[in-house]
Amino acid sequence: MKSTLALLLLWLASLAGQAVFAAPAARGPLERFSIGGQEYVRLSEWARQHHFLLSWTSKTELRLVNNSATISLTVNSQKITVNGVAVWLSVPVAAHNGSACVAPADLTATLQPLVRPARAKAGARIKTICLDPGHGGKDTGKLDGKRREKDLTLALALELGAQLRKAGYKVFVTRSMDASVELEDRPEIARRRGADLFLSLHFNSAGSEVRGVETYCLTPAHTASTNARGEGANTGALTGNLQNEKNVLLAYQLQKSIVSRLRLEDRGVRRARFAVLCTAHAPAALIEGGFMSNPAEAKNIYSAAWRRQLAQAIVEGVKSYQKLVDPPAPKER
Ligand SMILES: [Zn+2]
Repeated sequence: MKSTLALLLLWLASLAGQAVFAAPAARGPLERFSIGGQEYVRLSEWARQHHFLLSWTSKTELRLVNNSATISLTVNSQKITVNGVAVWLSVPVAAHNGSACVAPADLTATLQPLVRPARAKAGARIKTICLDPGHGGKDTGKLDGKRREKDLTLALALELGAQLRKAGYKVFVTRSMDASVELEDRPEIARRRGADLFLSLHFNSAGSEVRGVETYCLTPAHTASTNARGEGANTGALTGNLQNEKNVLLAYQLQKSIVSRLRLEDRGVRRARFAVLCTAHAPAALIEGGFMSNPAEAKNIYSAAWRRQLAQAIVEGVKSYQKLVDPPAPKER
């Protein structure tokens, strides 16, 4: 009798288990095919593997939803949003026989690291941050009358450094005054001093109507960049590509924090092979914190009070990133 009861309980437990924990979808390789010479996979297959519900919201727009993320995509567009923040893919989303398709590299180097962040090894907590104020010395950066980008990036770096130290991080800068530092030397300074993160700070310039914030990370090997110049896909792996997954997560968390806290136009997480990102050993991102050529943004950028807010948003972005990647704290005995 007792054993019958035990069996019954076991059977009930197994039923309950099935109801709560759906069997994980098989994680086999996705079928690859070519559309116009570009390799693609079906988004629906990836969505199933990652427990996303896929729905078309119009003839050309679709959405993936699960309990942690909402991703919106548009056919023929490289721009997607992940939880409302713009992110650029290396090739446009394609429609093929009624299915939405994306490049496999965009799944592995962009979507996957954002929706399933990988934690660092035990003991690999983020402690030291290298700040890189863009330009300096004879390289003035962008100019707007007497305003020089190199002075504004330095002012931001000093403010950000003070705030990060207050938050408990060890911080150093690639330059603490108006001095020339070669681009290649900047990530090298970070490596020598054992930085766990590298943040390069810049301000933008274009037509007076262009505005907004963009955060860059290194373009993955053999894919095209999404900066204004947009270099092609024929570059192989660089040192900075060893951190591909962390680079994009860092850039995303920074962009998310800046555009949501300061309510600025979201120009998205973009990719470039900027010299300071190519040889970075630690996860690295480059922030373009607004346009000196846009009158409203210029007024902000030239204000110490506004730069304090921008620095605060960057600190919060770093903390959000750290929460996702730091190894879990060792259990207390
Ligand atoms: Zn710059």
